[in-house]
Amino acid sequence: MAQETAEIVIIGAGMAGIACARQLAAAGRAPVLLDKGRGIGGRMATRRVPLAGVEVSFDHGAQYVTVRDPGFAKAIATAPGSSADWADGAAEPHLVGIPGMSGLPRALADGLDIRLQTEVISLSRMPDGWQVQTSTGTLNAGLVVLTIPAPQAAHLLAKADLPGLAVGKALTSVQMDPCLTLMAAFPADAPRPFVNRSDTDDPLAWIAQDSTKPGRTDRFVTWVAQASPGWSMRHLHEPADAIAARLLPRLCDRIGADAGTALHVSAHRWRYARVRTPLGRPFLHDARHALYLGGDWCQGARAEAAWQSGSAIARAVLGIETAA
Ligand SMILES: Cc1cc2nc3c(=O)[nH]c(=O)nc-3n(C[C@H](O)[C@H](O)[C@H](O)COP(=O)(O)OP(=O)(O)OC[C@H]3O[C@@H](n4cnc5c(N)ncnc54)[C@H](O)[C@@H]3O)c2cc1C
Repeated sequence: MAQETAEIVIIGAGMAGIACARQLAAAGRAPVLLDKGRGIGGRMATRRVPLAGVEVSFDHGAQYVTVRDPGFAKAIATAPGSSADWADGAAEPHLVGIPGMSGLPRALADGLDIRLQTEVISLSRMPDGWQVQTSTGTLNAGLVVLTIPAPQAAHLLAKADLPGLAVGKALTSVQMDPCLTLMAAFPADAPRPFVNRSDTDDPLAWIAQDSTKPGRTDRFVTWVAQASPGWSMRHLHEPADAIAARLLPRLCDRIGADAGTALHVSAHRWRYARVRTPLGRPFLHDARHALYLGGDWCQGARAEAAWQSGSAIARAVLGIETAA
């Protein structure tokens, strides 16, 4: 992409960006998705680790998705085999990606024009549209849709220095918490006291036996544990190894495992993980600058909320076009 032109550029190939792009593409538009990550799906993420000749996966971002929205259910139905119910004992079905969480967004993004490992460095408003500067080149676009976490969007727009930008204040009202996540694998005969557990008073607010999800290897017992927002904030700037070393004994204490038998231990730092204070509406729109913003931060801390936000943006874009 040395210098290219696209009608619509969507920044962020997570659930919100994918939902938006799918609907625009289905209506005959040609959106280009840019993402700085190596894989599709954003926080619907899977870490793969080679262990004793097999690949072990950890869902170190979203643990499962709920499917309450008919449009989301319909989209999932178009991607058979990419998700399945997790028998975790919850009253409401919890759907997980196959073979890992990222399998679902990857399948939903099938056929879309997605440029990975393409970080948007800056945005500039030109008389006839946008100039999007990325780590791999420049893209000119008529319309920009930002589906990245609100604080990151605020940062990009602040650099763009747009006179009269209408969305800045609303964007900075959104608050997102960090989450430090531990991944650990044990031999198949290690204790398995529960499938998952949530305890907001515990520094390990969520613990899940990842290997109980459908489609995962049964050669190991794997766990994903998430530190509480407060603990995560306190230790956010420590190296990943130090975070893992702090969290492993806590996990072993809760599951009755011997830390010395762990076959794999690592940690991931999510700076903007969960929405604490959402926007309270499905998206932001600045008509003057041909700009839309969305993501889970609009209405809730869930992948489905991200999907709904991206879908709402697509409907608005298409609605504008219909009315014109
Ligand atoms: C630890 C954790 C646990 C969670 N558990 C659950 C759960 O159990 N159930 C649930 O429903 N939800 C859960 N969530 C929330 C869920 O993952 C999110 O709500 C959802 O995935 C957000 O989708 P999104 O498209 O809004 O944003 P994201 O998934 O964050 O996508 C944004 C994308 O933008 C890209 N990006 C950012 N900046 C740039 C840039 N400058 N240039 C290019 N690309 C950029 C990123 O790489 C990313 O891929 C969890 C999240 C975390 C972190």
